[in-house]
Amino acid sequence: MNITIGHLYPDLLNLYGDRGNIMCLMKRCEWRGIKAETRRFCLGDKIDFRELDIVLLGGGSDREQMIVCNKLKEIQQDFKDYVEDHGVVIAVCGGYQLLGNYYQTEDGIIEGLKLVDLYTEQKEGRLIDNVVLKSDLVDMPVVGFENHGGRTYIGENKPFGKVLYGKGNDGESGYEGVVYKNVIGTYLHGPLLPKNPQIADYLILKALERKYKRPMELKALPDEEEKQANDYIYHRFVTEKK
Ligand code: GLN
Repeated sequence: MNITIGHLYPDLLNLYGDRGNIMCLMKRCEWRGIKAETRRFCLGDKIDFRELDIVLLGGGSDREQMIVCNKLKEIQQDFKDYVEDHGVVIAVCGGYQLLGNYYQTEDGIIEGLKLVDLYTEQKEGRLIDNVVLKSDLVDMPVVGFENHGGRTYIGENKPFGKVLYGKGNDGESGYEGVVYKNVIGTYLHGPLLPKNPQIADYLILKALERKYKRPMELKALPDEEEKQANDYIYHRFVTEKK
């Protein structure tokens, strides 16, 4: 079995060590004997989405998002076909905002990929905090860190999780991120996946099942340290603050 991960624009969308998400996916595949390869795509590179099983779109500053935005128009249709065909995507922060229809900043509008029906507006003050979520995709709490000026409105879409601690999509709704088909969009840095191994496995499993067209199970990994770290954050920000 093998998996190909596409890392989009790692030279521009690369805030907060989000490349750790790639390393985590690669390792968790390798530990189970699943061959994993990562292809990095910079702005001029041609992307064949038919060859990819997981796509990662990382976070970026408004300036970098503006640069990437023009390129997105060229890949929009192929990316949309991939998503509609249940292609797996993990999009973090700036990448999450780019999944949507647009991101309105005080310097202008950044057009999005229109893959998920959501939009983002910049408002005064940044939402910066640790975050703990309850997501129905996994049993463990989802933990991470957020730092965004944009507020994201997901309409009727399913959120990634309910906020137990932190600000979330817009600081008001009580929800964070979005799930659409096999796409997860989230503001959570950390990087997300090493802190939340069950989310990493969720993505790997979805990618394998789509590729090999049958239900599968992943071999359990020990994850003792990951669980302890996750538990520590959960208690620090949720139970101790009550
Ligand atoms: N530039 C976006 C914002 O501030 C996203 C930032 C990020 O990726 N951390 O809302």
